[in-house]
Amino acid sequence: METLDCAVIGAGVVGLAIARKLAMSGRDVVILEAEDAFGTHTSARNSEVIHAGIYYASGSMKAKLCVPGRQALYQYCAEHNVHHQRIGKVIVACDETELTGLKKYKAQAEANGVDDLRMLTSVELKEMEPAVRCVAGFLSPSTGIIDSHGLMLSYLGEAEDRGAMLALSSPVLGGRVESDGIVLEVGGKEPMTVKCRSVVISAGLKAPDVARSIAGIPAATIPPTYYAIGHYYTLTTKSPFNRLIYPVARPDWLGVHVTIDLGGRVKFGPDFEWIDRIDYQFDQRREVSFYKAIRHYFPALQDGTLQPGYTGIRPRITGPGEPVQDFTFHGEKEHGVKGLMTLYGIESPGLTSSLAIADYVADNL
Ligand SMILES: Cc1cc2nc3c(=O)[nH]c(=O)nc-3n(C[C@H](O)[C@H](O)[C@H](O)COP(=O)(O)OP(=O)(O)OC[C@H]3O[C@@H](n4cnc5c(N)ncnc54)[C@H](O)[C@@H]3O)c2cc1C
Repeated sequence: METLDCAVIGAGVVGLAIARKLAMSGRDVVILEAEDAFGTHTSARNSEVIHAGIYYASGSMKAKLCVPGRQALYQYCAEHNVHHQRIGKVIVACDETELTGLKKYKAQAEANGVDDLRMLTSVELKEMEPAVRCVAGFLSPSTGIIDSHGLMLSYLGEAEDRGAMLALSSPVLGGRVESDGIVLEVGGKEPMTVKCRSVVISAGLKAPDVARSIAGIPAATIPPTYYAIGHYYTLTTKSPFNRLIYPVARPDWLGVHVTIDLGGRVKFGPDFEWIDRIDYQFDQRREVSFYKAIRHYFPALQDGTLQPGYTGIRPRITGPGEPVQDFTFHGEKEHGVKGLMTLYGIESPGLTSSLAIADYVADNL
C-alpha cells in the first residue's frame, strides 16, 4: 500500500487553498478529486462575489473567517494577478417595512469588524444607482467580484510549485481509520489504496457522505446532508447598475440580488429551494418569480430580457425550518481521529474566506 503524508479530498476553491497552504508549510500533499477537472461544482456555480462580511452572526466562524479572508484575498489577487474588481455594493430597503432589516446591518457589520458601511442619502442613491427603486441604502465599498476559476488556477499552480499533486478522476470511495494513519480507497481508472498521515475532507456537497464512508469516524459526529438550489438569470441588455445591488436579506439567504461579472454582464440570483439530490438542471418555471422579485427594486425590467443562466447548490447541514448552519470544522477534538480535519457546510462566503479557511485548517490539523 502506498503511503502519503497528506491527502486533501476535493479540488474546489477551498480544497485547493488548503492544499496550497499545506504544501507551502512543507507537507507532501496529494489532492484527490472525483471529477476529471478541478472546481466543477460549487466553486464554479456561485456569485463570484468577494463578500465584506456584513451579515454573519457575531462570533460565528463565517464572521471570523470572512473579514480576514476578504482582506487576504484582495492582497492575494493583487500580488498574483487574479482578475478581480472592488466594485462595491449597495444594500437597499425598497419600502418602509424593510428599514428595520437594513438598520440591523450596520451594527452587525461593525460587530464583525466591517467598519466601512456608509448610509447613503436618497440624493446619493439616485445619483449612484438611478435604476434602483428604494427608500434607503448602505454602500459597502469593500465588496468586490472575482474570477473564481483564475483564483483556483493560481492556488493550484502555487501548490504544485511546492510539490503538491492533483489526482483527477480519483474519487475517494471509502476507507478506515487505523492506529498509524487513515487508509483511503480511491476509485477511478487506476484504483489504489493509500495510507495517509493526515486527511482533509473538503468535498463540498459530498463531505458528509465521504466522512460516512470512512470506518472509524464516529457516525454521531457526521452531520446530515441537505441541498438548497439557487438559480441565476442573466440580463440580455446592458447593465443599468454601477455596483452590486442587494435587497434586504431573507432569513434563509440573501435574496435575489444583482451581481455584475468581470465582463460587465448582469446576473440576478440565486433564488432558494430545498432539493433532495444533486441535480443542477435549470427550472425555467422560475422566470415569473424572478421578474417579480427583481421589479421590487428594478421596476424598469422589461419583459423578455431575462435569460436562464446557471444553478448552484448550497451544501447545507441544517434543514428546512432550522437555523442556518455555520461553517463547521471537525478535528481530533470533535471526532477523536488524529490527523483528520473534516469541513462541512462550506457555503457562502466560502470563496471569500478560502485563504482564511486554509490557515485555520493548517493550524488545527
Ligand atoms: C449559489 C451559491 C452562491 C455562492 N456565492 C458565493 C459568493 O458570491 N461568494 C463567496 O464567497 N461564496 C459564495 N458561495 C460559496 C462558495 O461557492 C463555496 O463556499 C465554495 O465554492 C466551496 O468550495 P469547496 O471547495 O468547499 O466545494 P466544491 O467547490 O463543491 O468542491 C468540492 C470538490 O470535492 C469533490 N469531491 C466530492 N466528493 C468526492 C470524493 N468522494 N472524492 C474526491 N473528490 C470529491 C467534488 O468533485 C468537488 O470538486 C456560493 C455558494 C452557492 C451555492
